[in-house]
Amino acid sequence: MRDFEREVMNAAGPLPPIRAEEFSWSLARHYLFRFCRRGYFIRYYLAQGGWDAYSHTLAREAYFSKYLMPFDTWLSRTLRDAIRDSFAKMSAGDPRHKRRGFGFYLLRQIGKATADLQISLKNREYLYDAKRPAILEHHLGLGDFADVDKLTEKAVAILGDAYAALSRSDIIADVSDLSFVDLRTDDKFIAIDYKGFPVWIVPGLIYFREGAVSAINAEVRLTGDENSDDFFRRIGQLNSLFALFCKTRYPGYPVNITTFTFSKDLSSVVYNLFEPDIEKLIDASSAEMLALIDRDGLAHPEDFPPCENRAYCRTCRYQSACRLLENASVQDGAAR
Ligand code: SF4
Repeated sequence: MRDFEREVMNAAGPLPPIRAEEFSWSLARHYLFRFCRRGYFIRYYLAQGGWDAYSHTLAREAYFSKYLMPFDTWLSRTLRDAIRDSFAKMSAGDPRHKRRGFGFYLLRQIGKATADLQISLKNREYLYDAKRPAILEHHLGLGDFADVDKLTEKAVAILGDAYAALSRSDIIADVSDLSFVDLRTDDKFIAIDYKGFPVWIVPGLIYFREGAVSAINAEVRLTGDENSDDFFRRIGQLNSLFALFCKTRYPGYPVNITTFTFSKDLSSVVYNLFEPDIEKLIDASSAEMLALIDRDGLAHPEDFPPCENRAYCRTCRYQSACRLLENASVQDGAAR
């Protein structure tokens, strides 16, 4: 064990219950809760206030790990944001060159995001400012990801291929005549007011066309067809959440959602894939989460056990905070 890590563990000490802040729900929260209760506790309770340099060591480590992004998540977000912002710029640009303008903006935005990532990783900025871009696999030193130049070259190659596939699809042609007044680009995250708590979603590009409200989203995955049922179920769930948002924000409007999916071997465009019973999912999932908060509003670390299959731990972004937490529990037990 490295010396500084031992010091951190010694400084951690036993962990008291944590006051849960105001509850909200999201699909990411639901999946983490299902995957590992310990990871859920770290992200949604332990990380509270961890931005403060004087907070508990565990809170700071939890806060840091929250921002480590798996590579395919970073690719998906970069592509989704680039599509959204490039459409916004294209719709306000010269109508004669809209399509070319879209490609120009999109490639420029991808280039900017990749250069920013490279700077953050090379200078290890993300270690001092958790909000600077960071890739989980790089931080863990996994294979080629350890090398910043190889990582960024890979990102540019994948996003370049994704752009080429996007250009061959109908998506750009379908929306290239939209004007900026048709677009809703203000909110990157939106909250649905749901039965007393907010449900958060990332909607992608939202626009109005022919009396319908529509959205374009993008997902990149690096694992080919593996778990494709789960992948498409998740897209359906995201879409259904967006439809739920539209039900109250734009009542009476039909809803259309286009998702561009890209992986190494295939790209596809998925239209209007919805998961039925999304409200049942939110109700059941939020009830389970809230059941683990006591009547004084406290979350107790011992109610959030580690996942059963410890093989997952090797690539888990919360593994460092998890080790510290385990050590704190051992100290706590020894002190009793
Ligand atoms: S390291 Fe393993 S047990 Fe700990 S949070 Fe991650 S997945 Fe869960």
